[in-house]
Amino acid sequence: MDFETRAIHDGQEPDPATGSVTVPIYQTSTYAQEGVGRNKGYDYSRAANPTRTALQICLASLESAEHGIAFSSGLGAVTAIMHLVNPGDRVVLIADVYGGVYRMTSQVYEPKGYLFDYLPAESFPSLADHLDERTRIVWIETPSNPMLSVVDIRAAADAAHAAGAIVVVDNTFATPYLQRPLELGADIVVHSTTKYLGGHSDVIGGFAATNDPTIAERLTFLQKSLGAVPGPFDSWLVLRGIKTLAVRMRKHCENAHVVAYWLSRQPGVQKVLYPGLPGHPGHEIAARQMRDFGGMISFLAESEDEAVALVARTKVFELAESLGGVESLIEHPARMTHASTADAPFAAPPNLVRLSVGIEAADDLIADLEGALAASAAEARATT
Ligand SMILES: *Cc1c(COP(=O)(O)O)cnc(C)c1O
Repeated sequence: MDFETRAIHDGQEPDPATGSVTVPIYQTSTYAQEGVGRNKGYDYSRAANPTRTALQICLASLESAEHGIAFSSGLGAVTAIMHLVNPGDRVVLIADVYGGVYRMTSQVYEPKGYLFDYLPAESFPSLADHLDERTRIVWIETPSNPMLSVVDIRAAADAAHAAGAIVVVDNTFATPYLQRPLELGADIVVHSTTKYLGGHSDVIGGFAATNDPTIAERLTFLQKSLGAVPGPFDSWLVLRGIKTLAVRMRKHCENAHVVAYWLSRQPGVQKVLYPGLPGHPGHEIAARQMRDFGGMISFLAESEDEAVALVARTKVFELAESLGGVESLIEHPARMTHASTADAPFAAPPNLVRLSVGIEAADDLIADLEGALAASAAEARATT
């Protein structure tokens, strides 16, 4: 069946006890057993919960995966995956990695003796030269957060596999509606379901999926053993969000396309970073491996002051961290989402502004940005 149908039905048969069409929120920590060791597949909700199971089946199906494992946050999922490697092992990450992942690798795992190298997206064509026998994981985000860099997943998987490493793709920005990394050769796909999958800025969640039975078994063990599991209600919220993922993503993409082209013609905007623009360095790869270009746009304002002032001036675009909800958001990565990369060689540019383009009317979004940019121009004139 097609993506849209699986998003609504996979893992979500009517409840056998009542016929309930939506999966019930099994708000329970434990399950009655008929005798010692005789249960219906559930014994304790950290190990398994039926609402969580429904989410795992549905989202695994959408990622073309045999196995799905849900977590309490995107970073909960990342933590579990980082436990697949040991001190002394090397992980090569895209330099422009999510700020929270960089905070984890640099401040939690590096002091324990794990080795991390950060490779700019531009260097991925020569990935093979950067791998050695200690490299266990190649970690990709594409499009990346916040620079919207694009990496060729299939080429990276070929290089990593030749060197005996596995490939993890953070697919948060694209979602499985736009891009399915496992079909392109990746070994694990990871998500912050907080973003587009939940889609309504009302839940924190994470997810990992794989077709490798050994990795699946280990991640399932780590889910239970590390304990970063989503509760039944949070699982249900993500499951509900996913039902409308396809229609939401189509509108996010449509709006972002309009906004990106409009921004690229504005004098107060130095440069627009959006893979859908033909001048973007990753445009052709994105066109090949994605269905459409997504709802995230970053752009360079004239200066840091200008960027900081601008993000506070919009009215429809709320000034807030996070992304992927129905409402449009604007933020300043260098001081907000990516402040933890300030000392890294790949710190977010100080004049960078990031937009999460929502599903409101495109005209209202343009008018909002137009008003904010015009106010900036007027202010600049007044001070010179
Ligand atoms: C938000 C985000 C994460 C972390 O997810 P949380 O749910 O906030 O823990 C990881 N990767 C990317 C690309 C993100 O945007």
